[in-house]
Amino acid sequence: MQDQHLFDCIECGCCSYVCPAHIPLVQYFRYAKAESWAKEREKHQADQARLRHEAKVARLQRQEEERKAKLRKRKEDLESGASGGITSADEAKKAAIEAAIQRAAAKKAALGAGAQTPDQPSPAQARSPEGAGDQVGRESGA
Ligand code: SF4
Repeated sequence: MQDQHLFDCIECGCCSYVCPAHIPLVQYFRYAKAESWAKEREKHQADQARLRHEAKVARLQRQEEERKAKLRKRKEDLESGASGGITSADEAKKAAIEAAIQRAAAKKAALGAGAQTPDQPSPAQARSPEGAGDQVGRESGA
């Protein structure tokens, strides 16, 4: 349509007025212009969709490569750690676990030492009915 100079028409209507066959030329030209604009719009939308699709494919490919690189690095770290190279993070974690175990053992020892005093029953003895019965029997027998 561009090479036939359709868009040079300003739709003045003179050609329809003077046409001896009474052909509605202006209406035809308007229809052709509308069709041409619709095609241009569809082509533009298709171009935008193609660009979006290409960008999406590139983004997915980049994310896949990043994921693979991350997995490869993690695997290398694990392999280097298994071969004897212990990282400082592992050492800190082990030290924290060891300290927690020592604290728990000290607390347990303190509770055990407190339960062996003759005047106060241990928390387990105080809760059990047999321990309470012993305590009541001792008190009533005395
Ligand atoms: S309407 Fe007809 S006469 Fe008028 S500009 Fe268009 S083609 Fe030319």
